[in-house]
Amino acid sequence: MKKIIIVCCMIFSYIFSYGESFEIITLGSDGGVNDGNLSSYLLKGNKDTNYVGLDAGTLLPGIKKTLEKNNFTSIKFPENTEWTKEGYIFREKIKGYFISHAHLDHISGLVISSTEDNKKPIYGVESTIKNLKDTVFNWKLWPNFGNEGSGFKLGQYEYLILDPLKEMNVKETSLKVKAFPLSHSNHESSMFLFNNHENYLAYYGDVGSDRVEKSNLLEKTFIEIAPLIKAKKLKAIMMEVSYGNEREEKELFGHLTPDLLNEEMDKLAKYVGKENLKGLNIIIIHIKPSLKNNDNVRGKIKEQLENSNKYNINYFYPVQGEKLIF
Ligand SMILES: [Zn+2]
Ligand SMILES: [Zn+2]
Repeated sequence: MKKIIIVCCMIFSYIFSYGESFEIITLGSDGGVNDGNLSSYLLKGNKDTNYVGLDAGTLLPGIKKTLEKNNFTSIKFPENTEWTKEGYIFREKIKGYFISHAHLDHISGLVISSTEDNKKPIYGVESTIKNLKDTVFNWKLWPNFGNEGSGFKLGQYEYLILDPLKEMNVKETSLKVKAFPLSHSNHESSMFLFNNHENYLAYYGDVGSDRVEKSNLLEKTFIEIAPLIKAKKLKAIMMEVSYGNEREEKELFGHLTPDLLNEEMDKLAKYVGKENLKGLNIIIIHIKPSLKNNDNVRGKIKEQLENSNKYNINYFYPVQGEKLIF
């Protein structure tokens, strides 16, 4: 009898975990202001034991918060190690960083904790890697921890340029990735499309709407992900909404509001069909907090999105230390 119960449990847990492909941990949820909670996520395939970082605005304070919330449940901590749990996750379990663009709120954690990090790759499109090389790891702003660039190269970080639209393997994980350029004011940002055995996750860095940016780059990514949405292979989209609807368009500086995200969803609906957007998981990232009294931007964005959700999209608003599984 006991054996039958165990076998049944195994079958059930297999069935329930079968559809799950990705684990996402929020190390930093905000698009600015609070230096301990800036854009940064950990991503791992469901069968993997290693994470990669999606942007790196805040690393160690986010790892600490996740440990406090007991959300590193899939990690086995070794007993005999000289490292703290924070140190172990940071050094040994993050196997590289995907930087969407080199703005400070996406890289400051990586820079400031680099003195305690170990050897790993930094992935990005060519412009991101060039900006990191020229303006950050150059011995002026910070020592050159890279394997290229000016002056003596400490070589801790290996720069890996993602060729747009070409899928490549992510080292020490089961993931593959493809990068797409995005328009972010006068700056190039990027989207990373991760593939875990034909299940996908799209991580969008900072991005403005195509209409405001006078661009078609968001639309181009929609054309790419549309067949994956139709085939129910796209498990989640991580997309920024930095400001509430009341923000004037000329003050957006390459960011989205709920109304502008809806405008983009109308475009996506054209490619996938309205019915296929129902239940699509969209994780809202990069909310910019306000320091004004009674101005809860997060609450406002949530309300504005939920009140205008004509496609019945499944929105998530993760906070620091939270774990999501898709
Ligand atoms: Zn940003
Ligand atoms: Zn930015």
